[in-house]
Amino acid sequence: MAVNVLKDKCKGCTKCVKNCPFSAITMEGKLAVIGAGCTGCGQCVEVCPFGAIEKTEEEKKEKDLSAYHGVWVFAEQRDGKLMQVAVELLGEGRKLANAVGCELCAVLCGDGVDELADELFEYGADKVYYANAPELKQYTTDAYTKVIYEAITVYKPEIVLLGATHIGRDLGPCLAVKCDTGLTADCTKLEINPETKGIMQTRPAFGGNLMATIVCPNHRPQMSTVRPGVMEKAEKIPGRRGELVKLDVAFAAGDIRTKVLEVVKSAKEMVSLTDADVIIAGGMGLGKPEGFEVLQKLADRFGGTVAASRAAVDAGWIDHAYQVGQTGTTVKPKIYFACGISGAIQHVAGMQNSGLIVAINTNENAPIFDIADIGIVGDLYKVIPAILEELDKVPEK
Ligand code: FAD
Ligand code: SF4
Ligand code: SF4
Repeated sequence: MAVNVLKDKCKGCTKCVKNCPFSAITMEGKLAVIGAGCTGCGQCVEVCPFGAIEKTEEEKKEKDLSAYHGVWVFAEQRDGKLMQVAVELLGEGRKLANAVGCELCAVLCGDGVDELADELFEYGADKVYYANAPELKQYTTDAYTKVIYEAITVYKPEIVLLGATHIGRDLGPCLAVKCDTGLTADCTKLEINPETKGIMQTRPAFGGNLMATIVCPNHRPQMSTVRPGVMEKAEKIPGRRGELVKLDVAFAAGDIRTKVLEVVKSAKEMVSLTDADVIIAGGMGLGKPEGFEVLQKLADRFGGTVAASRAAVDAGWIDHAYQVGQTGTTVKPKIYFACGISGAIQHVAGMQNSGLIVAINTNENAPIFDIADIGIVGDLYKVIPAILEELDKVPEK
């Protein structure tokens, strides 16, 4: 247990019982008893008016936080290609590193992906920690967790950022548990507190109706996952160099409990909403799945892609891979068309940072118009053909 009740001091006032956020304290007569649900949050220590609860000796041993330095970005690669989210994290990581006054590093795992280290330097990494081994060619939870955890133990970064991709969402929690620290998932904003130099991690909570800012004051590293498409990409400076630190990689039998036999790419992976410059998104206002064919015509004209609201996905009109929003993909295209989409907060959360937002909706009071740069009140089945007609008059360059 992380806390002890001092029997001779406990007066049985029950204040700790009422204040324990995890309902982990019960009363046995006039004595408070800590149960198995205790997470060690320490709240009861603070609230007991008689000083009857104290942290165990193990808990009292505070970590030396001053030993932790630097911002690390997990440089996720697949098939030897750097994921765009890694470039976005380097952009954000640079701002954080400047605010803290520390270096920006990338941690790269793979098999013979040396050229990616050069790319990471060009995107702003001062140092690249590079784990190079055949076992790291394909992501496995065990191999990546082991290598990065060992690197964290040796080099002690104060902040670790990962993309909220399938891999990042798997790796982040594993690392956080092993490092005995916290992890804030799906952050949309990261800032440094100028006084504490700690990171303030903001993410949507309660279905997007509230933004929660989370801090990690007592443990290191501070860890966050960030959705692809949310942060600004780092600028590439060709020829920029940094320091390459090769990590020792050694696996014993049984270290990696899974084996990748085959990688089968699903059609869903072909949809790259995060890379699209132009997105034509449709919602329930389409009225039928065939509506996406109309949107596709506009998308083809712009060299863009179609996308959808969750309601359209839930209706079975289009695959989830196309969903934009809080529980879909976060996008930041140059132009975003919202066609027959009302503009619910959960949808807006995934597209509000688009360059130019064009909304087409029959209801002039639809909330989407509050964030649209260009609002067109009208039936999308009339407006889109009219736009296509006008575009056809423009000579192709
Ligand atoms: P509606 O709200 O039904 O809007 C349809 C719009 O089309 C209306 O504004 C109407 O005026 C207009 N319209 C009708 N006919 C036409 C026409 N002919 N021409 C032009 N306009 C027309 N939603 C997401 O999109 N993404 C998410 O990731 C997401 N995550 C969620 C997570 C949670 C926890 C919850 C609770 C909800 C989430 N939602 C998400 C759902 C969200 O709250 C909305 O229900 C959804 O976005 C509504 O989709 P819509 O705008 O297509 O449909
Ligand atoms: Fe005992 Fe303190 Fe809990 Fe009151 S708050 S029941 S005194 S441990
Ligand atoms: Fe409850 Fe936190 Fe006290 Fe544990 S440390 S008993 S979880 S208040």
